[in-house]
Amino acid sequence: MARRASPFPSLRRTLPGLLLLAGVSAPASAAIQPHVNQTQGQPVSGCTARTENLKPPQVPFGQQNPVAEDKAYVLRAARILEPASGQVTQGGYVVVRGTCILGVNAAIPAGAETVELGDVTLMPGLIDLHTHLFLRDEDQVWPYSILWKTSPYRTIEGVDAAIKTLNIGFTTVRDLDDEGALDSDTALRDAIARGVVPGPQMIVAGVPLTITGGDMNLPLVNPEIQPHVPQPAEMIDSDAAIVPAVRERIKRGSDLIKVYVTSTRRQTDPVTMMPFSQFDVQQMRTIVQEAHRYGRDVAAHGYGGPAVEAAVAAGVRTIEHGPLLTDQNIASLAKSDTYWVPTLITYAVRQNTDFEKRFVAHHRDAFRKALKAGVKIGFGTDVGSFPHGTQNGEFDLMVSYGMKPLDAIRAATSVAATVLRLDGQVGTLAAGSDADIVAVAGDPLQAIADIHKVRFVMTDGRIFRNDVTDQRFDWEWSRR
Ligand SMILES: [Zn+2]
Repeated sequence: MARRASPFPSLRRTLPGLLLLAGVSAPASAAIQPHVNQTQGQPVSGCTARTENLKPPQVPFGQQNPVAEDKAYVLRAARILEPASGQVTQGGYVVVRGTCILGVNAAIPAGAETVELGDVTLMPGLIDLHTHLFLRDEDQVWPYSILWKTSPYRTIEGVDAAIKTLNIGFTTVRDLDDEGALDSDTALRDAIARGVVPGPQMIVAGVPLTITGGDMNLPLVNPEIQPHVPQPAEMIDSDAAIVPAVRERIKRGSDLIKVYVTSTRRQTDPVTMMPFSQFDVQQMRTIVQEAHRYGRDVAAHGYGGPAVEAAVAAGVRTIEHGPLLTDQNIASLAKSDTYWVPTLITYAVRQNTDFEKRFVAHHRDAFRKALKAGVKIGFGTDVGSFPHGTQNGEFDLMVSYGMKPLDAIRAATSVAATVLRLDGQVGTLAAGSDADIVAVAGDPLQAIADIHKVRFVMTDGRIFRNDVTDQRFDWEWSRR
């Protein structure tokens, strides 16, 4: 399948970013190289070894793909859903070879293993555009985990979260802040890509940008010891600090930049429900332009109001959360190229105070207005702020607020792939895409709750779970 031209081709999947960091222009030959399918001898674009997605300096080794596997599968299912078109193939099969999908009802390679999945709906692996694999319930209450958990310990917790995420069918996540776990996100991303541990493909933001006294600034910590505590965000308190902060992110391996354009619920006016703005439009433009220069997108945590206007005008890829989006924000989003990632569930599961209930009601109304206005909506959850492995409840909320089940599934597949600029690589079952596949019992197009009934998960061509044969991953799964 032809990939949509990316404005960021040189850094997305190849090494010339290293040259860029060294001040050397990326050569024209650095464009994406098609993977050659050895069975049919045809180039298959869009499906390459995941280690090739890693950006410098995470790939210092000459060997990009340490274990070449070429196992072929024929996955038979009662229904096969291609989300972008909405087409459902009855009683067909998907052919996989190595890490690539060869297509629906495609020619079957010799020696392929047939997997009969029965009365399930088979579809591309799901994508969560807003996760925190290194965050847990107990990390958000005093004393913050950053004060008592080591980063290696939190990395191990992240492995557990990655397994729980994959177990419910999410094969790609965009992890938006490792919450002070000292680059655990880049470490886990690379370990998963190399097959060291199972987990979803990770696109990571690393340390986000914020301001002193704003969100992610460790309130309540004794100021005498704050300088010695790992920080969950970098403080940007002057215009001159912006560019170095973005470059530091690139150097440390972030795939995108996360910025907090509004602050917390604590700093939201309880009467007007107006959030506290952290950056203006010129500052946002500087962040986005510097990120784009390195081929990175920007995700903006924003509740609503002037800061969201500034972020959209500056060209951020996504607005995260948006529970307090104004009508003006919704109109601006609808006519922009920016996607909204609502993360409905993270607030819906926490409605204890009157303020929190009003917050959730506003979120619901904004979602309904955005649907009507044609805002582009991607699926994201903020999981980590609530238990890992439960974020598929977001589907139920989206549908209960008026989204069609197919559109909710698109938000987590084809639309999310576009947000990530990975069209044709993930979020589809088309020939040449990555072999990320999930099957659920029943038909989620008829009853979205069926999306919880996961029966089969394949990631990067490897079966992680198959409930029909009672197969689950074991540590033999590891590639290295
Ligand atoms: Zn978040």
